[in-house]
Amino acid sequence: MTREQALAALGRAVLSTDPDITASYGFDQSRFTGRAVPSAVLAPSTTDEVVSCLRVAAEQGWTVVPRGAGSGLSGAANGDADTVVLSTHRMNSIVSIDTVERLAVVQPGVVTGELRTAVAERGLFYPPDPGSVAISTIGGNVATDAGGMCCVKYGVTGDFVLGLEVVLADGRVMRTGRRTAKGVAGYDLTHLFVGSEGTLGVVTEITVRLLPAPREPLTLVATFGSLAAAGEAVAAITASGVSVSMLEIMDRTTLRAVDRMTRMGFDDDVAAMLLVQSDASDAAAALAEVEKACAATAVDVVIGDDPAEGAQLLEARRQALPALERLGDWLLDDVCVPRSRIVELIGHIETVAADEQLTIGVFGHAGDGNMHPTIIYDESDPASRAGALRAFDRITGHALELGGTITGEHGVGRLKKSWLARELDETAMAVHRAVRAAFDPEGRLNPGNLF
Ligand SMILES: Cc1cc2nc3c(=O)[nH]c(=O)nc-3n(C[C@H](O)[C@H](O)[C@H](O)COP(=O)(O)OP(=O)(O)OC[C@H]3O[C@@H](n4cnc5c(N)ncnc54)[C@H](O)[C@@H]3O)c2cc1C
Repeated sequence: MTREQALAALGRAVLSTDPDITASYGFDQSRFTGRAVPSAVLAPSTTDEVVSCLRVAAEQGWTVVPRGAGSGLSGAANGDADTVVLSTHRMNSIVSIDTVERLAVVQPGVVTGELRTAVAERGLFYPPDPGSVAISTIGGNVATDAGGMCCVKYGVTGDFVLGLEVVLADGRVMRTGRRTAKGVAGYDLTHLFVGSEGTLGVVTEITVRLLPAPREPLTLVATFGSLAAAGEAVAAITASGVSVSMLEIMDRTTLRAVDRMTRMGFDDDVAAMLLVQSDASDAAAALAEVEKACAATAVDVVIGDDPAEGAQLLEARRQALPALERLGDWLLDDVCVPRSRIVELIGHIETVAADEQLTIGVFGHAGDGNMHPTIIYDESDPASRAGALRAFDRITGHALELGGTITGEHGVGRLKKSWLARELDETAMAVHRAVRAAFDPEGRLNPGNLF
């Protein structure tokens, strides 16, 4: 069969082969990860159509990059020239919501926020809430094991995935996992796919665990005269053992950028802010504990009980990256350190910013030790570009030295591909290669990604 005949056989599952259209499916939201124009974009609507796409791809020897919303920040959905992109945007149905078993079955292209809203209407809660909640897909969240604001209390996407349907590179369909509260039959193939970044198969259906809806959260805002002081408060909150449902940090650069975008009226003198929420039944007592933990280093602490104001502050935090993007060219890092080392990480970021004479906006999920230093630089100036890369490497390297990881939630993708072998030992790398080869012996799924 010729390429044209193969594409014709896929019928309506082919979205386009027009480079003017396919170009926009060739990259995600990351920088420094390269861009190529895919030769075709496939957009199947059903599992059967995904099977046909992967069978034809196998016969034709095409390489395939699965794609959700392309909101990723590591280049994990970027392909090389001649890649065929398989977009899940037409597979966007919530198949069922079971209020008794507290689970939902969804297609991979369902937008994260839409699932959260649909289950909330039935009194249930799907916690995973990446900053991109309004655009990212559940399939993409599974493939990156996305985190978000909720992780400090509820954990990451993988903690809510019970089972999957996956189409393998050769077109075979595999079901993994369970619908029961417990189950230990066989290897945990479900969680092998969580965080696999599109390299092991295409996820076509996901069964997720749901929780009863919590109460409206109470919100605490603490402001600080330095970023280090905010870091010390994070360490004190962690050490106090109090449980909160959100613990986010934004530095002065981020606050100013967000303020310019949202007109929230943040005070210019504030060097750092902690945004803390509790959705527990004893939320007032929990936030009183947090207030105590902040007392030694905070300039001001305010506890609010207006849910609308809390939601507005949360939305402002979600705008951190879009707001920083407006300051110039940017390179976003995503490192995670033990929470007891967060002060050291912050100190190092400030040193790097001073050494390289660059602005580095700092925000992140402080309660998890997961920070997103965002390096602002000038792409047209080679010295500035080189400085940005040096800063990125120094911060990522230091996170490892602090006993942390090169990526807390955005994934390895293409951005941190060269870093994976610095975090994992040789045996772990060899096992990674063997697992990938077992699922995709010809190396046609997302080649060039992860390792
Ligand atoms: C403003 C902003 C804020 C963000 N905040 C957060 C945050 O708080 N926490 C966080 O973790 N991330 C965050 N992200 C990053 C991003 O949104 C997440 O990584 C998200 O999970 C990607 O989902 P997606 O649908 O866009 O996937 P894509 O970017 O399209 O793909 C990501 C990876 O998943 C693979 N993939 C997608 N669908 C499938 C499938 N069905 N089967 C197999 N593989 C698949 C792709 O091949 C790729 O490797 C943010 C991004 C932005 C732009």
